[in-house]
Amino acid sequence: MKALVLEEYNKLVYKDVPDPVIGPDEVLVKVMACGICGSDIHGLDGSTGRRIPPLIMGHEASGVIISTGVNVRTWEKGDRVTFDSTVYRLDDWYTRKGHYNISDNREVLGVSPGTYRRNGAFAEYVAIPQHILYRIPENVTFEQAAMVEAAAVALHAINVSGIRPGDSCALVGAGMIGIFIVKLLRISGASSVIAIDIDEKHLLKAEQAGADFTFQASEAGLPEKIKEKTAGRGPDIVFEAVGKNESVNLAIEIVRRGGTVALVGNTTPSVNFPLQKAVTGELKILGSCAICGEYEAILDYMKMGKLSVEDQVSAVAPLSEGARWFERLYSREEDLGKVILRP
Ligand SMILES: [Zn+2]
Repeated sequence: MKALVLEEYNKLVYKDVPDPVIGPDEVLVKVMACGICGSDIHGLDGSTGRRIPPLIMGHEASGVIISTGVNVRTWEKGDRVTFDSTVYRLDDWYTRKGHYNISDNREVLGVSPGTYRRNGAFAEYVAIPQHILYRIPENVTFEQAAMVEAAAVALHAINVSGIRPGDSCALVGAGMIGIFIVKLLRISGASSVIAIDIDEKHLLKAEQAGADFTFQASEAGLPEKIKEKTAGRGPDIVFEAVGKNESVNLAIEIVRRGGTVALVGNTTPSVNFPLQKAVTGELKILGSCAICGEYEAILDYMKMGKLSVEDQVSAVAPLSEGARWFERLYSREEDLGKVILRP
């Protein structure tokens, strides 16, 4: 089959590789669409240590089953599917507790951090364990289904936050995940949504996605302005989708006493932490990692027309041109949004 292979750091080659061989509990999926994730772009140069070559990257994908392993009963050839980016074990303590996203020995498709190597979906075919498959509704396209992963990360953060109808919310960092957080907060019962970013274009997108108020992160007197919009207290819940010192501290600064900060971004490994504000304000500071079962809900929202994802897709291109698109995304020559590759 043809695949886009990371042969060495900063060197992507579109070439022939052997077809994947499926195990008894796996299916072979003919890939129809696979999105380029920010983590793939950052992984390209070796800086994250999670894409050790040689590797076929790609974990935001959709396709059609073309063959099934001997133990597979509920899936058959021709089924349109998307799948979790995490390959988790079913006999794990965390999985049994309902937390497969933080389970032991889990692997991520298209990732090789040194302890394992799991080829992903920038290829014609990919082998997928049956227990991570999800059926794509008829009225959802393969390109839309390739966006489910990103939207599900946002929904997981919302679930982690423990939001209740009527809660006021704010978002710091209106990138891809942030925009999905805004959209999904609108259907999760938030009374109001404030979006904060340093980029005007992001703020405009947040507004289009349903944010009630948007603010420049550098704006003078920002915490006071946010209090004004939230009954003088600050938001009940703040989502942080950047993961840098300034943005995390801003999120903790603006949340009301007793409120919740849900941390999704993790651009940097550590930040300064305002201990006294967190302790004396009895803040709930929660981490949100990847996805834990939110695929089905996102596919339902798409099917019912409640969640649009197309506006986040900037280009659909052939996989053979993948290296060039990676280059453009890596050099950040423009704010491209999501690029989807088709084998
Ligand atoms: Zn991703």
